[in-house]
Amino acid sequence: MPEPASYLAVTDLRSRTLTAAELTAALPRPELDVEAAAVAVRPVVEDVAARGADAVLDASERFDGVRPEHLRVPQAELQRALEELDPAIRAALEESADRVRRVDAAQGRPTESVEVVPGGTVSQRWVPVRRVGLYVPGGRAVLPSSVVMNVVPAQVAGVEQIVLASPPQKEFGGLPHPTILAACALLGVTEVIAAGGAQAIALLAHGADDLGAGVPLEPVDLITGPGNVYVVAAKRLVRGRVGIDAEAGPTEIAILADATADPAYVAADLISQAEHDPLAASVLVTDDDQLPAAVEAELATQVPRALHHERIAEALRGEQSGVVLVDDLDQGLAVVDAYGAEHLEIQTADAAAVAARVTNAGAVFVGPHSPVSLGDYAAGSNHVLPTGGSSRFNGGLGVQTFLRGIHVVQYDRDALATARDAATALADAEGLPAHGTAIDIRFD
Ligand code: NAD
Repeated sequence: MPEPASYLAVTDLRSRTLTAAELTAALPRPELDVEAAAVAVRPVVEDVAARGADAVLDASERFDGVRPEHLRVPQAELQRALEELDPAIRAALEESADRVRRVDAAQGRPTESVEVVPGGTVSQRWVPVRRVGLYVPGGRAVLPSSVVMNVVPAQVAGVEQIVLASPPQKEFGGLPHPTILAACALLGVTEVIAAGGAQAIALLAHGADDLGAGVPLEPVDLITGPGNVYVVAAKRLVRGRVGIDAEAGPTEIAILADATADPAYVAADLISQAEHDPLAASVLVTDDDQLPAAVEAELATQVPRALHHERIAEALRGEQSGVVLVDDLDQGLAVVDAYGAEHLEIQTADAAAVAARVTNAGAVFVGPHSPVSLGDYAAGSNHVLPTGGSSRFNGGLGVQTFLRGIHVVQYDRDALATARDAATALADAEGLPAHGTAIDIRFD
């Protein structure tokens, strides 16, 4: 069957006045949603909760085509992978980790203390989560860069115990990909689990009595990391038992561009994210009526040349991708805010000023020389970012993801006296007089 001529469907919002809800509904969104995937993976999560390691191995056989010999990767394999790592990849991982560490080091949170009244202090202590499970994808693409993006902020935050899970690879005898293992060894991560998808998330959340050789796996307190829609769905199912970071699912790029944008750059950046997953979303928002055709012409040249051209074409032609035509940049900003993309590029005149007006995005990439690929690997920013519109209420992975603020309250008797009337009045108003008594008793 001949390929259709164009890749991106067009939504024309010009001269239309839409409410926020209508706008959100009008924008491209994926067909397979997280709720549908959750129905599919619930039996896997429940099986792992009930049967532990055996259920993980069964699911690995089914979804990854291999039954790992060791669910916990032996230390010797981690060391071997590091020794055999291509020096150029080692240098790149070190450069990437160094940049992320430099940015993260500035994001630590000191204890903040406020003397509310003389003798009455409330402090906020930031305490790292004790034990975390980090997920690193390894389905269609193997992402050692995600080792860096998960591990470095956890280490900077001061997390004591890090467990990292990544899918077993058939061609590597059921171990995660050697580059993932090498990246773990490089960053000093020693507890690595050969499990992917929903079974990995369930295992991290529930732990296991015997993960092999009679050694148990202690459940984690928090799970972070990107993954496909099944990983995101499984994280939703275990939320509450453990904490989870933002939902970092199939990747999204939105580009807000005007007539000054270079169509070759725009096309290359749309393709770069479509390369991840047939469910990846690539959306161009523009007020220029010439640009869409110019970008299509570039796609027609660039897509067939790409290694993963079939997956890219599927993603670009999916319901979740397209071009949105707007009247001007003001309407364009309303569109990208309603969309809340994981990655938002601003390719317009005076891009920094336009970017400063964005309120919903996982990360914003400003101007022609800040492509999303830079952020994926080596900007110093984190690439684990909220998808599916969740940037409205979540930020990307960072040091703060691994910290909890604990209020520490310390009042002396005089300071308590200053709060006595307000506290007892509110206790009475709420019909909870014992609360008031607990204050009054200190003065009787
Ligand atoms: P993955 O490791 O996320 O998923 C692989 C696992 O999915 C397999 O181990 C398998 O267990 C499970 N699986 C596959 N098909 C299944 C099915 N039909 N039912 C149940 N489980 C199934 O790797 P991937 O597939 O390559 O996906 C990586 C994803 O991570 C991409 O979507 C990419 O866009 C995304 N990503 C997101 C961010 C972000 O910050 N948002 C960053 C990097 C990557």
